[in-house]
Amino acid sequence: MKLHNLKIPTQQVNFKQAVIQGIGQERGLFFVNQFKKLENLDEILIMNFVERSSHVIHHLIDGELSFDKVYEMVSNAFNFDVPMVEVTDNITCLELFHGQTLAFKDFGARFMAQCVSAFNDKNHVTILTATSGDTGAAVAHAFYKLEGINVKILYPKGKISNLQEKLFCTLGENIETYAVEGDFDDCQRMVKSAFDSDDIRKKHNLTSANSINISRLLAQVCYYFEVVSKYYDDNLVVSVPSGNFGNLTAGLIARQIGAPIKRFVAATNANDTVPRYLIENTWSPNKTVETVANAMDVSDPSNWPRIMSLFNNDLDKLKQVISATIKTDVQTFEAMKALQEFGYIAEPHTAIAYAGLIESLQDDEQGVFVSTAHPAKFIETVEEVLDIEIPLPEALEAVKDKENLSEDISNSTELFNQMLLK
Ligand SMILES: *Cc1c(COP(=O)(O)O)cnc(C)c1O
Repeated sequence: MKLHNLKIPTQQVNFKQAVIQGIGQERGLFFVNQFKKLENLDEILIMNFVERSSHVIHHLIDGELSFDKVYEMVSNAFNFDVPMVEVTDNITCLELFHGQTLAFKDFGARFMAQCVSAFNDKNHVTILTATSGDTGAAVAHAFYKLEGINVKILYPKGKISNLQEKLFCTLGENIETYAVEGDFDDCQRMVKSAFDSDDIRKKHNLTSANSINISRLLAQVCYYFEVVSKYYDDNLVVSVPSGNFGNLTAGLIARQIGAPIKRFVAATNANDTVPRYLIENTWSPNKTVETVANAMDVSDPSNWPRIMSLFNNDLDKLKQVISATIKTDVQTFEAMKALQEFGYIAEPHTAIAYAGLIESLQDDEQGVFVSTAHPAKFIETVEEVLDIEIPLPEALEAVKDKENLSEDISNSTELFNQMLLK
């Protein structure tokens, strides 16, 4: 597989290098030089999810790993269901929240963990990362008990919900969690400073489990083929709740290699840089605002250059395939209630995708909205807005009374670095 740095195109890497380096020189993103169409689309559409996904990824990485190896990695990574639930005659929900941490981030994190493990030719590597909640849980579960890999996760003490904390701080084994006296920015600062130290980097073979890692995108391409396998229709429209725009990038890659998806809706909350860009043709991120769909509170989405690259930076071409829509918190609550009328319980991110879909869907189109999180992940909002009680899913029930194994630490980079060098 050949990839280049979008900022410095002369920096060319293969898949393994892109996975291990994560990000290129001058913080440029790695992206695929050229996508080839799948030649066996009809054949793979009738396969089961794991088998089909192995074919899609093997095709994308252009044989850099054997099919059997890819199949093994995909089976380990995608060990949960990907159901589609019909909401009305022409509207279906793609549920991506049946993994260990109840959000779609499990797809990317679990496949990335398999890649790091496969490409790890050192005896021992350490994944060091900071989290404000969801990513930490997905990363912790993805790397749990993988041999030769140690994981250290920093998070702001008292700033994430109790259940969120229990989800990744009770695992033990190769997962170490640190509750930092400070905020998320402190955690990020501490992680960066550890990466800046040659001594620490070498001692631990530090690797980051960054959200812009190319392996995460490849994993996410797979579920768009699940949609197509159920709705092979020339009039398929998919609405994606978007923050950093990785999920939409993956959908566009699927389309590029042959998934018959007519168009996409990019649905955002009040952090509306992309929708405004499509209307005004100027890129002008505002200050990030807090919304009820907080995993999408991103005002400068890092994956956007990859999307522009897919359309050769031609905005007119892009607009033929992507339309964008903005939903306020109030509109999000209304959409949750509208879905409840159809008997479907959704959390805010999912509701935004639904609201964006129905406002543009034509009678002859088949609509799919992507659900990125289990309603119980946002239990307070869901119970309050919909006036219901929802039971805790097994994954949360199983950890809620377990002991929190985190170590409390101060927000001093010096003390943290000393600890890492001991
Ligand atoms: C991360 C996340 C999103 C946004 O996905 P992007 O790929 O960053 O656009 C949406 N919903 C939930 C629940 C998330 O965790």
